[in-house]
Amino acid sequence: MALEKQKSCNDLGYTNLLNTHKSKLLYEKAKEILPGGVSSPVRAIKPYPFYTKSAKGSKLIDVDGNEYIDYCMSYGPILLGHENQSIKNAIQNQLEKGWAYGTPTELEIKLANEIVNIYPSIEMLRFVSTGTEATMGAIRVARGFTGNDKIIKIEGGFHGAHDAVLVKAGSGATTLGIPDSLGIPKSATENTLQIPFNDIESLINIIKLHKGEIAALIMEPIMGNIGPILPKKDYLKEVRKITKEEDIVLIFDEVITGFRVSLSGAQGYYNIKPDLTTLGKVLGGGLPIGVIGGKKEILEKMAPNGPIYQAGTFNGNPISMAAGLSVIENLKQKYIYENLNLNGDKLRIALSDIIEDKNKNYSVSGIGSMFKVFFGDKPSNYAEALKCDKKKYFDFFHQMLNSGIFLPPSQFETCFLSLSHDDYDLEKTIDAYKENL
Ligand code: PLP
Repeated sequence: MALEKQKSCNDLGYTNLLNTHKSKLLYEKAKEILPGGVSSPVRAIKPYPFYTKSAKGSKLIDVDGNEYIDYCMSYGPILLGHENQSIKNAIQNQLEKGWAYGTPTELEIKLANEIVNIYPSIEMLRFVSTGTEATMGAIRVARGFTGNDKIIKIEGGFHGAHDAVLVKAGSGATTLGIPDSLGIPKSATENTLQIPFNDIESLINIIKLHKGEIAALIMEPIMGNIGPILPKKDYLKEVRKITKEEDIVLIFDEVITGFRVSLSGAQGYYNIKPDLTTLGKVLGGGLPIGVIGGKKEILEKMAPNGPIYQAGTFNGNPISMAAGLSVIENLKQKYIYENLNLNGDKLRIALSDIIEDKNKNYSVSGIGSMFKVFFGDKPSNYAEALKCDKKKYFDFFHQMLNSGIFLPPSQFETCFLSLSHDDYDLEKTIDAYKENL
């Protein structure tokens, strides 16, 4: 069918140059039985999402046969590329032996050892199934360990969809304009204090105000859920110093940055040792996984050793463990991060040049394989990120889809590169930015 014939202007005024007829029909059906037609809110791309049929390397292929270069990468986990052969082999090998035992396995000891060897701050860990469970567990552990109830969270930080942290939460919550959810009792969030990122004064002040009452500071060391926002020079060092002096458990939520920014995450990159760390996404290679890790003296307070309860039917699931071991084996190879991050640098430089050439007041942010064009000045915290032009970004997102590029459908979600993105992908992507920005 000729492009002109397919061209349709949908209800929202976005011109769709692709034939996405089957996706549209599927969405009509989905809306009847799934809230908003989706299983997680950010996927409900207006006017309707494309439905993926298969994925390989850097590409997604939808049910209508359109191919997209993927920069969403399942919102972070797919660092090795879609349908990676070695992860597939590891999963298949484990499948032959069964996939849920409800007993301990040697696999979890092996994977735990790998993680402990890579992350100097992690002496002991508990496997869970998602990043949400990991942060929920880490907060409980910090509260149980210190005997305090209050936690500090960074505005715009997203730590999953559980009650205590759904306050000024980034990611889909901010995209949809509901950073504070209904259905959460006041009592669940009254102990959640908020401060802006990159602001030491606010941290000092809030600690003064609640002296001796704070269990933990939970933060993404690089904010990934309002686009990538980097810590200012020495900010994390100061945070570490202050929390140590005040006996506040410092939790680095590295569900996005773990194994992504470097093998040992943002904490390795910036050389900071938090007390607790949460991991997820990349570690599972696309399978569900989460980790609550940290100091032995804290982790040993968890059940069955101690009185802080955490449990899960799927904790340490053997398929996820096998996938995790394969991911780490791949990522330990030489020059992996050098090559990956070089592509990130190339892209960021090219995008900055395009913006300069076009004389736009946009900005490029990111680090390693995380990047984003902000439709406004480069933000250093949540309040500044909110000033960017969400509507313009979303128009741009649709134009990029027409060019065969799948970006995250929100100004506030980070774009991710994988090891499968090659020079051809980058060239095509840069051309598409040039055309559509
Ligand atoms: N922490 C961070 C920093 C995240 O970005 C996310 C999810 O995007 C989570 C926690 C929750 O992880 P999950 O979606 O696996 O529950």
